Amino acid sequence: MSNFDEITKVLQENNNFLITSHINLDGDGIGSELALYFILKKLHKKAIILNQNRLPKLYDFLPDSDKVHYLEDNCINPKNIDVVIALDCSNIKRIGKTYEIFKNIKTIINIDHHKSNENYGSLNYVDSSASSVGEIIYELINFIDSDLLDDKISTCLFTAIITDTGSFRYSNVSSKTFEIASHLTCHRIKPHLIANNIYNRNTYSGLKLLGEALLTLEINESGCVSWLTITRKMLNDTNANDEEIEGIIDIATTLNNVEISILFRETKDNKIKVSFRSKGNFDVNKFAGKFKGGGHPNAAGCLCSGKLDEIKENVLSELFGDIKYLGYEN
Ligand code: AMP
Ligand code: MN
Ligand code: MN
Repeated sequence: MSNFDEITKVLQENNNFLITSHINLDGDGIGSELALYFILKKLHKKAIILNQNRLPKLYDFLPDSDKVHYLEDNCINPKNIDVVIALDCSNIKRIGKTYEIFKNIKTIINIDHHKSNENYGSLNYVDSSASSVGEIIYELINFIDSDLLDDKISTCLFTAIITDTGSFRYSNVSSKTFEIASHLTCHRIKPHLIANNIYNRNTYSGLKLLGEALLTLEINESGCVSWLTITRKMLNDTNANDEEIEGIIDIATTLNNVEISILFRETKDNKIKVSFRSKGNFDVNKFAGKFKGGGHPNAAGCLCSGKLDEIKENVLSELFGDIKYLGYEN
């Protein structure tokens, strides 16, 4: 694995950077991208953020979020890029179509916290003990020069950390996570305002969709698995968009005695996206791997092709087999 010394050297010796993250961008992806973008600017470098998709509205409160580009902008000339920095992407497929733009660029810095990371970069920094890439970027900034940290950067990193830890509730939280969050709070950020932006700006259509989704809630006989389903019809009927699905699976996870929760949903391009969450020791990253997906031990996903009902049946019967074998039903 590369170290901060090597990464810092590449940052110092080059001038034009492209920063990217994964499809279905989340708070860790965008928070880490913007924090690194501000650092590069402070180091007098040219930096551009490019993701496959448009920034979810949820994150429009972040500083300079209007400067984040997406593929259809057509704003990038690969000839003008020296270095690509991929954040929070366990493999190239997760980067999405953006990869096509820079696949011929030699220097790719891969910074991630997924255990399953495929080390696709020319430099790879993967720390699976970090709660979020935000935590790693914080440490990188401290390594380069702790005076670089300011309120804008702190806001972005705090957002990365709270979204990837479910507001400090998941098992990826360590004493270091709290230490970093505490230090970020010294930089005039207001954690409650960030939380308000993330959690208290639901839309009417988003809550209606949540209501529809909850009507589909099912549990297995022992009550240790719960699952929800969201169809295109439900999105159309409630006038909600795909971004508003974010967070709905977490409600299914709150059920008492539930160890594993699942969300099945139809995507715009006729695929079935399956999200998994685990409250205990069941490793959903490993389980999602059976369907060519991945993620973390407690939060993972996969993308399947086929009919919704058949995929549900396949995934659930595979899961029931596993939990029986592991003794969850006793
Ligand atoms: P989600 O269910 O989309 O919120 O994703 C939960 C976690 O699983 C995140 O860390 C994602 O990076 C990861 N993940 C989701 N879908 C996939 C996939 N198809 N392949 C690999 N990792 C995924
Ligand atoms: Mn992510
Ligand atoms: Mn992450």
